[in-house]
Amino acid sequence: MEPGITREAVRELPKAELHVHLETSLRLRHLAQAQHAPSLAEPYLVSDPQRYVGYDRLRRLRYLGRAGKVPDRVYTHGNVAQVAYELLREAAAENVRYVEIRVGGRRGFALLGVRGMLEAIAEGRARAEAEFGVRSGTVVTLVRERGPEHAAEVAEIAASCVDCGVVGLDVAGDEENFPPALFVRACEVAREAGLGITVHAGEFSGPASVWTIIYQLGATRIGHGFRAVEDPELVAYLREHRIALEICPTSNLRLGLVGSWREHPLRALYDAGVRVTINSDDPLLLRTNLTAEMYTACRELGFTLDDLRTMTRYAVEAAFDRKAALAALAVPSARPS
Ligand SMILES: [Zn+2]
Repeated sequence: MEPGITREAVRELPKAELHVHLETSLRLRHLAQAQHAPSLAEPYLVSDPQRYVGYDRLRRLRYLGRAGKVPDRVYTHGNVAQVAYELLREAAAENVRYVEIRVGGRRGFALLGVRGMLEAIAEGRARAEAEFGVRSGTVVTLVRERGPEHAAEVAEIAASCVDCGVVGLDVAGDEENFPPALFVRACEVAREAGLGITVHAGEFSGPASVWTIIYQLGATRIGHGFRAVEDPELVAYLREHRIALEICPTSNLRLGLVGSWREHPLRALYDAGVRVTINSDDPLLLRTNLTAEMYTACRELGFTLDDLRTMTRYAVEAAFDRKAALAALAVPSARPS
């Protein structure tokens, strides 16, 4: 490892994060409240990822967070605002100055309404920005299994909620049974409203899924996408078209998709000139954060602090609210003590 790289040096770097989900934090917050414990991630981590081979992402995540069902009463405006605030407070403590938070949970949307959820998140975000200067935006995740009509409906509402800081649309879930063609309309609605498009692909499925979402859905960013490395033509395309990949190494490892840090294609993709960014995905559940991800990337994959700065620049340039990301990275934030 390059001399001078310490966890503290990585923490001190101003950072931006594009791929982090709210729902898993909400679930763990409920558990922590119920059991009066400050952190409950440990018992929910997978000790043997091989056990879950053959499961789709959602099933694996459910097993990862063997938390049982979160009662409906947890979905209140106040709890959602608090979880969004805490997510950003944790990020600010790591000197992450711009964060895009994803939300797409069926029950949250059903119980509070899509706009209700987005307003609660906006309240938490505003509080975090006022206290720590951390800038953020919300990305609405469409879950494929709920079908194209539901997706188009949610996309319409998301498009009308730009006032609550919605900056983008994400498509996630079962790729095999719900192909991208079903979500063309939803993505069009979002694009017409000026929202960015990112899609989970190239994670459980191979490079063909990445090609499809670029062509059919017009994604300008890819959620995960690390399996693009298997197709040299795709690697060249991503580089030429400056399409950013939202890489979440610990998530990939815990889900058993990559054998070890050293085998992670992050290094090969970066060396090939692809705009890779590093992200934490489900930080509470995976017990990680952006500092830990970046520091381990330096230790295991030989990245330098300059490489991390380059990846942060990629993240800022790929941010769906680039103006906010640029502004946030330019000024020091007030770090929580
Ligand atoms: Zn994700």
